[in-house]
Amino acid sequence: MEDCVFCRIVAGEAPGERLYQDDQVTAFRDIHPVAPTHVLVVPNRHIASVNDLSAEDEPLVGHIFSVAHLIAEQEGVSETGYRLIVNTNAHAGQMVYHLHLHVIGGQRMRYPMG
Ligand code: AMP
Ligand code: ZN
Repeated sequence: MEDCVFCRIVAGEAPGERLYQDDQVTAFRDIHPVAPTHVLVVPNRHIASVNDLSAEDEPLVGHIFSVAHLIAEQEGVSETGYRLIVNTNAHAGQMVYHLHLHVIGGQRMRYPMG
């Protein structure tokens, strides 16, 4: 997908502090962190949003969660706690249309959500 910043990060063509990569997913630090830990886990393949997932993607989605857990362990926030967020379309404020799971931690989260 042309002109997708996350595709370029996956391909190593854009700067970004990558923390993890395998044949399915890539994790890198959010450029505007909202907490001490703010990492994005993305599929390597361009999928615009949750709305574009199909049944064949279910193992991929599970893997994205496994890597989020790995990142939380690596960042030392798994015990203190962390929040996983996936924004979809305008009402959720999705800005980048390449599916991504936010892994946010290192401080107490604010409530309420929404
Ligand atoms: P959203 O689409 O609202 O779920 O969030 C997109 C996130 O991507 C925001 O938190 C941005 O700070 C982050 N972001 C946008 N461009 C980059 C980039 N080049 N490298 C890392 N994070 C980015
Ligand atoms: Zn993309």
